[in-house]
Amino acid sequence: MNVSCMTKDCNRDDCRVAFDQSSMSTCIGWMPTYDKRGRQIGSDPNVTTSGATCLTCGARWAFRTQGGKTTVTRTPPVAADAG
Ligand SMILES: [Zn+2]
Repeated sequence: MNVSCMTKDCNRDDCRVAFDQSSMSTCIGWMPTYDKRGRQIGSDPNVTTSGATCLTCGARWAFRTQGGKTTVTRTPPVAADAG
């Protein structure tokens, strides 16, 4: 994951992004299968989710990986003066 792509939405210049120590993955039994030419057949149905947090502004990113594609969902920072 390219951190600079993630933090481009951060409002601050001193952001520090910490990635989650662990990731969660579904555990569907699936073996990578390849044809004679080494091309992978089908795609891994398992979904892996992880995340990262900006320690400075509080923004949060959730990563979801399935079949080799990762999508990122960004949660805006929590307003410091809320409440
Ligand atoms: Zn930030």
